[in-house]
Amino acid sequence: MLRLPYGSNAGSEQSAVLKAALLFLLVILSASSHADPERRVPLSVEERAYLAQLGPVTVAPDPDWKPFEYIEADGSFTGIAADLLDLIAERLGIEFNYVVPSDWDEAIALSRSGQVLVLPFLNQTPAREEWLIFTEPLFVDPNVFITREEHPFIADARSLDERVMVLPSGTAIEERVRRDFPNLRIVTVPSERDVFRMLEERKADLTLRSLAVSAYTIRSEGWFNLRINGQAPQQYENRLRMGVLETEPMLRDILNKGIATITPQEREQIANRHINITVIQPFDYTYVLRIVAGILLVVSLVLLWNYRLRQLNRALAESERSKAVLLANLPGMAYKCRFDEKWTMQFVSEGCRELTGYEPQMLVNNREVAFVDLIDPAYRDYCAQSWAEARETAQPAKLEYPINTADGKQKWVFEQGVVLEDARTGTFIEGLIIDITSRKQVENLRYHESTHDELTQLFNRRYMMRRLEDVLKRHVIDRSKFSVAMIDVDHFKRINDRHGHPAGDLVLREMAGILKRGFREQDLVGRYGGEEFIVIAVKVNREQTHRLFERLLEMIRNHQFEYEGQSINVTISAGIVNSEEPGLDFKLASMISLADRRLYEAKAGGRDRFSSFDMDAPGAE
Ligand code: GH3
Ligand code: MG
Ligand code: MG
Repeated sequence: MLRLPYGSNAGSEQSAVLKAALLFLLVILSASSHADPERRVPLSVEERAYLAQLGPVTVAPDPDWKPFEYIEADGSFTGIAADLLDLIAERLGIEFNYVVPSDWDEAIALSRSGQVLVLPFLNQTPAREEWLIFTEPLFVDPNVFITREEHPFIADARSLDERVMVLPSGTAIEERVRRDFPNLRIVTVPSERDVFRMLEERKADLTLRSLAVSAYTIRSEGWFNLRINGQAPQQYENRLRMGVLETEPMLRDILNKGIATITPQEREQIANRHINITVIQPFDYTYVLRIVAGILLVVSLVLLWNYRLRQLNRALAESERSKAVLLANLPGMAYKCRFDEKWTMQFVSEGCRELTGYEPQMLVNNREVAFVDLIDPAYRDYCAQSWAEARETAQPAKLEYPINTADGKQKWVFEQGVVLEDARTGTFIEGLIIDITSRKQVENLRYHESTHDELTQLFNRRYMMRRLEDVLKRHVIDRSKFSVAMIDVDHFKRINDRHGHPAGDLVLREMAGILKRGFREQDLVGRYGGEEFIVIAVKVNREQTHRLFERLLEMIRNHQFEYEGQSINVTISAGIVNSEEPGLDFKLASMISLADRRLYEAKAGGRDRFSSFDMDAPGAE
């Protein structure tokens, strides 16, 4: 929970925040103590006489401007302005007489017609100077742009085309916005609440409101689709003053004496009491978190608007602007997520829709789906490990994995991102995810083609040699058992000669199927070339291998090879090497040539058989 401290602090931003937090604690501790009677402002005889002759100081507040000023159900005037005015009244020993208008326009009318002396809390504008004179500011509050959450960050509102800005009618901002942002279409509505509703209902694109008001309203009314999405130029900060009828300069001067007694701590205490901002998730999830953090800092320094901070914000705004442009044009989904088990998205760019089939806001804060659920289950550990490694090494991560989209399709994605550690806000990832499905399909096809034999769809020779190499290395390390066998179809030339080449092809294809069925899942079967095959059987000793081959020869003998109604008798011969026999050097070439030699032994021995290490031959091999 974070509060927005409204106070005055000098020094670096960080120490200012610390000081503000400390001040806040102090304020809490002394919350029950009332205004110090010693701060009572001594008024001159002339001033006292003036006030006596003036009668009650009539004030027309805005009845609906939370949290600044509003009328409670019981008719009492409340809010930040009400508390500030109470302090001023107490210190000056005067009484404000509140006249409650039905809305702000009526308050203005009451003031214009001279029916009330004071408007308690408003910005000074040329239009208002026609009949009002102004006190020093009671309170300073920056203005921020509010949009729906999918709207890109606003760095410069002058560059926005064809946008509709909604404002409450009759506010000071309206005059300035019309002048400064002629590119925006302005619509006005009666109340603050209507402003936010217009945004929510997509009848307007943005509004420009006080940070205090919008923070309060978004929170209290649950406009969770809206977000603070940029800070207005500095001239847009609200310097909220009392407006006094121009005929009463002495009243203005007296009020200024009261305002001068208000301490930063008192302002802060009052602001906290009415805004009481718990910085809720919708603030956190914005990609412009740093900007919002900047704004929070700004708020903590409202009264002594820190020069350095302004420069910082300008630089930040510039970098955010280029980022916003970049994000809108990215071929994929830019995101910021929490470093948690669900990869909880804080921000996803518009590209989300095309990539995943989900609307950006469905993913944000796992509202309808968590990003982790999109990742193919088989790849979730891989992703978690990749990011853990990236975090540990403080290096960017690059990942490729399949996701399941909203319409149940699978897409391959490439993701690249960085882990951001922030002691204050936690650990996040920022990155980009792009669709590589078509590249992956081409890649997969190429890989398949490069590792398989076209006719039989068994592994090809090159792939089998690579795998045999692996098996041999493995054996040297852990003595894991294996057999490697060369298999050759007997008198295959005859088959071609008698039945034709296509019949030969068919025999080869069917042979491939039998070989696959004849061995186990973990064994590797490939075509070595022509009518020769190679098998690598793992975790088998000599006897087990013999049994496998006896069964295989049997299967082939019994298989009905048939081409165009003609049955074809097929047998094979095989030469086997098993890792347990003595005298092997476990080199690829010698293992192959030994298996080959044994294959020809089997041929010479009458075919339809296998040959392996002869246990009976003394000193064999
Ligand atoms: P042996 O029992 O001694 O192995 O006799 P063989 O006839 O099987 O031996 P040989 O090596 O003389 O003949 C192999 C034949 O296989 C020669 C070649 O034309 C044929 N062949 C090689 N590749 C293919 C192929 O992809 N399709 C077909 N149909 N025949 C092929
Ligand atoms: Mg051959
Ligand atoms: Mg042959």
